[in-house]
Amino acid sequence: VELADAAKVQEACKKPEAKQPAGAFVPAVSRSAYEEQGGYSTLRRLNLGELKGDDLIAELEQSHLRGLGGAGFPAGKKWRIVRDQLAPRLMAINIDEGEPGTFKDRHWLEHNPHQFLEGMLIAAQVVGIDAIYVYLRDEYHALRATLEALLDDLRANPPVATLPVIELRRGAGAYICGEESAMIESIEGQRGMPRLRPPYVAQVGLFGRPTLEHNFETLYWVPEILRKGGQWFASHGRHGRKGLRSFSVSGRVNKPGVHLAPAGITLAELIDEYCGGMLPGHTLYGYLPGGASGGILPASLANVPLDFDTLQPHGCFIGSAAIVVFSQADRAVNVARNLMRFFRHESCGQCTPCREGTAKAVELMDKPQWDLELLGDLSTLMRDASICGLGQAAPNPVDCVVKYFPHELGLASSTEANK
Ligand code: SF4
Repeated sequence: VELADAAKVQEACKKPEAKQPAGAFVPAVSRSAYEEQGGYSTLRRLNLGELKGDDLIAELEQSHLRGLGGAGFPAGKKWRIVRDQLAPRLMAINIDEGEPGTFKDRHWLEHNPHQFLEGMLIAAQVVGIDAIYVYLRDEYHALRATLEALLDDLRANPPVATLPVIELRRGAGAYICGEESAMIESIEGQRGMPRLRPPYVAQVGLFGRPTLEHNFETLYWVPEILRKGGQWFASHGRHGRKGLRSFSVSGRVNKPGVHLAPAGITLAELIDEYCGGMLPGHTLYGYLPGGASGGILPASLANVPLDFDTLQPHGCFIGSAAIVVFSQADRAVNVARNLMRFFRHESCGQCTPCREGTAKAVELMDKPQWDLELLGDLSTLMRDASICGLGQAAPNPVDCVVKYFPHELGLASSTEANK
């Protein structure tokens, strides 16, 4: 799949924000082209009673589709949980895409927005949703104009008799609003700060109602899975994993971009088979397997399957599959310092371990010699006592440098850690 014409995107982005014409950016697949390929047929059949919600959930479960925003919660199970809550139920869709290195949602939204919209409407019908709130990254100006126009068209020419209320809400550039409960606060008009759980958003979410919260890409795959069967999606895994993953790859490779590849592919395979190898003159030195928060791994761990659950033994996680590749021209200490500055900047400030911990960690990492004992204590505190994933994951880069790149700190290499 090719990215849509970049010149059109740039042209659309130049237009004044308030007056962006409908269709400022033209998706690669139009509504008519999508419908010619069978698009919206699953939704129509569901609406006519030819398909049963229970059967669709069973198909999703067979596909092993998981939340592709980073949490990896099984999608079918989430539908069951929210469907069992008292109505009215709401849906919140996260297209904030703030994780550094992640651009897969934008890619698929530019390519085929109707596949996402059908997935959204199928989920709403099966779970019994009264209103849908789509939370779009505001930096995606051209896509907002496009999405507004597509939603207007859907309301004017609905593919089924009735549609739920659909609202498009603009994010305001805060990384923390990618966290589901902070996003919900933001949609409600509050400052975007994560909530304590329980209760979970599936029970008490948007405006106090049970809420089905999904990342854009999770819903994007729903219509295709239901048309081709859950087994089709599950059959794509590698190294014992199941499904497809959209890897956003950047850094020192020949072909950066979004690469749709089997779940469980290793970094070495991804670079060789999808990214055209390393850039000339560069050899693999390390990589971020999951954006800013997923940790840093060394080249010696380029053969670990990339998927949910597979990176935990190495102190990392895949998150939204943002892979940043670096080479001998880079230094892990610099990467880690940069990431900690990012976390300090993006901490919502609600809890002390994260607010003060990230600031203190930056201060310590700015020194020529790292105080490893103090940094270790800070890591433990932030992990154990922060409210949300930002503070809990912020120490990952520091811990990974100590574990996998000790030579950069002037310490003896730990060959055991690099296995
Ligand atoms: Fe806010 Fe950080 Fe606490 Fe999360 S961990 S609630 S981002 S201060």
